[in-house]
Amino acid sequence: MSIQLPIDIDSVKGFLAADEGEALYQYAQAAAELGPLLEVGSYCGKSTVYLGAACRDKNSVVYAVDHHRGSEEHQLGEEYHDPDLYDASVELMDSFKAFRTTMRRAGLEDTVVPVVASSGLASRHWHTPLGMVFIDGGHSEEAAQTDYRSWVSHIVPGGILAIHDIFPNPADGGQAPYNIWKLAKASGLFEELPTVNTLGLFRRK
Ligand code: SAH
Ligand code: MG
Repeated sequence: MSIQLPIDIDSVKGFLAADEGEALYQYAQAAAELGPLLEVGSYCGKSTVYLGAACRDKNSVVYAVDHHRGSEEHQLGEEYHDPDLYDASVELMDSFKAFRTTMRRAGLEDTVVPVVASSGLASRHWHTPLGMVFIDGGHSEEAAQTDYRSWVSHIVPGGILAIHDIFPNPADGGQAPYNIWKLAKASGLFEELPTVNTLGLFRRK
């Protein structure tokens, strides 16, 4: 690996492959010159470490949006449920404590702004232009469409749009992220960049 991360990334729970994280890091370094970065779907902070490490030295920030209540597949009884992240007292998922721990361990508390809210709520009065948007939130069609509508219009010219979990073949995975990837492609607003594993990438024209 060519990049230096502040912590052992394998010690952070999450759903991001190393090649995808490295691509996020590389694009984030340049995008941080254009404006702050924003991700939807932080979970325990794996992707946030890559984004935060890339923009810390540029004095930029990452807005890390997640309600920390988990996606459909993280709920009790579902395939990706993690009992360590379940708050039995309220019978809800809660990944925020783990996220904060990751940010502190990585020394990113002065770089990352946690936004503990749903994507739609966080975006409602958002006006700040963004150097990069990384979408890795809920995988329902409604959640993905909301993420696209809420954030993509804020990307500055030259800025980056990254969308995780792109599976062109339905047999490989859910289609909601791929559907918004297709929206971005059809919009004419972006130059398509090479996909890295399941990470779709665009540059705003
Ligand atoms: N990027 C993470 C993985 C994210 S998993 C990593 O690198 O490991 C998806 C996350 O999206 C979950 O933490 C879930 O709570 C969050 N999420 C799902 N729907 C959301 C919504 N509508 N608004 C905000 N966060 C959402
Ligand atoms: Mg994902």
